[in-house]
Amino acid sequence: MAKTDPLKHIVALCKRRGFIYPGSEIYGGFANTYSYGPYGTQMKKNIKDLWWKFFVESRSDMVGIDGPILLHPKVWEASGHVQGFNDAMVDCKECKGRFRIDKLLEEALGIEVEGKTLSELTSLLQEKKIRCPKCGKSNFTDARYFNLMFHTPMSKTHNSAEIAYLRPETAQAIFIEFKNIIDSMRVKIPFGIAQIGKAFRNEITPGNFIFRVIEFEQMEIEYFIEESQWEKTFDTWLLDMHKWCHLIGFKPQHLQEKEHKKEQLSHYSKKTVDIIYEFPFGWQELYGLAYRTNFDLTQHQEYSKISQEYIDQEGKKRYIPHVIEPTFGVDRTILALLCDAYEEETLKNGETRTVLHLHPFVAPVKAAIFPLMNKEPLTTVAHEIYHRLKVLWNVEYDASGAIGKRYRRQDELGTPYCITVDYDTMDNQTVTLRHRDSMEQERIPLETLEEVLREKLNLRWEEEF
Ligand code: ATP
Repeated sequence: MAKTDPLKHIVALCKRRGFIYPGSEIYGGFANTYSYGPYGTQMKKNIKDLWWKFFVESRSDMVGIDGPILLHPKVWEASGHVQGFNDAMVDCKECKGRFRIDKLLEEALGIEVEGKTLSELTSLLQEKKIRCPKCGKSNFTDARYFNLMFHTPMSKTHNSAEIAYLRPETAQAIFIEFKNIIDSMRVKIPFGIAQIGKAFRNEITPGNFIFRVIEFEQMEIEYFIEESQWEKTFDTWLLDMHKWCHLIGFKPQHLQEKEHKKEQLSHYSKKTVDIIYEFPFGWQELYGLAYRTNFDLTQHQEYSKISQEYIDQEGKKRYIPHVIEPTFGVDRTILALLCDAYEEETLKNGETRTVLHLHPFVAPVKAAIFPLMNKEPLTTVAHEIYHRLKVLWNVEYDASGAIGKRYRRQDELGTPYCITVDYDTMDNQTVTLRHRDSMEQERIPLETLEEVLREKLNLRWEEEF
């Protein structure tokens, strides 16, 4: 990893190579929005598909849903978001910059300030003469709360009574379907409901590329249990989250667990452990695991007047289930994987190559097929191989430019294998298989190509776990 601001290099690669572009760029940009380009979109899809396979399809205790972004406004009253989904913020009176006060204090003083009241935060800011990160002056407003939910008028009259919120988390769309799921599916506690979808937060200080954005995707699970089982279930899910991190290829030394202190816990949580990742800008939350008690279902029962009780036929019990919630940000997964994988490597001949050491499961392109030269009969054979492999994996054909440049392009995309057709292929029916990480090349018979790639690219559950 390059020493100077590695994030800058990653952002540049993402744009140059079609992973992620700044949002609405031709109109001068739209702050903290990003558009995923073709390779970023493919990588995102690989992550979501694998997550769904790992946490939903391969288990018998999970079902999935796809709920709406706009939910009845009462949902957010019941969940506590209208009241309490706030960040404390201050404005700089000099330059009009707006900041989360907790982040200002934490960064300047190296302390955690969760749980402090607005006036305690304001006093601390003044006493310690904290400077504005933008203009350097110390002249702030008092701290005040800012609700992070985006809202939109539902009617043409903009009647404030008809405001709908864009969901700030996918979880509530799951909770409000709990009853439908138990009525329509053959599920028995313990079981979980999973969902992948967009969430929106009007973050006060977004930034660090796609780490904190205003529109992002979450992969969430609400796992319903009997209260007595919560500690055991929590530990099992933490292990499963680590298995997932291993599956997609995170370097273990870049991951840690961080348990929230009592005063840091969200209003619904009795225990939360974050999996934090060592980003170039410091250790930050990647994923979270929370014991949400039966807070959400109890609230929805009270606000909707519809029972959210589960009837245990065997034990002849009725109760409102408790919930363990593992939550995964898609965009943060992508950013962390890119940071983990990015390398500017100095080669033996003194040249530098930029390479993404992405795990084959998440790499957007699995293999690239090249004719050594853009000439017959090499191109026909290379095309045949390309079409044969294309139905199995996302592979690319590239015949333009020097072969070295084509390898470098695929290195920057994180493509694990390149297959080259040369004149020897015509004589002995073999091709060159080039490995991205070692840059080694081996000669393999054409007829075994599919089998060799299958070994390297396909998921084998029994070996992974
Ligand atoms: P943070 O403390 O960083 O604001 P959070 O604790 O509010 O995060 P959760 O409410 O637990 O986050 O959200 C679940 C997951 O969604 C996070 O672990 C993260 O991966 C992702 N996430 C949350 N907010 C954002 C955001 N603004 N941009 C991108 N991803 C986000």
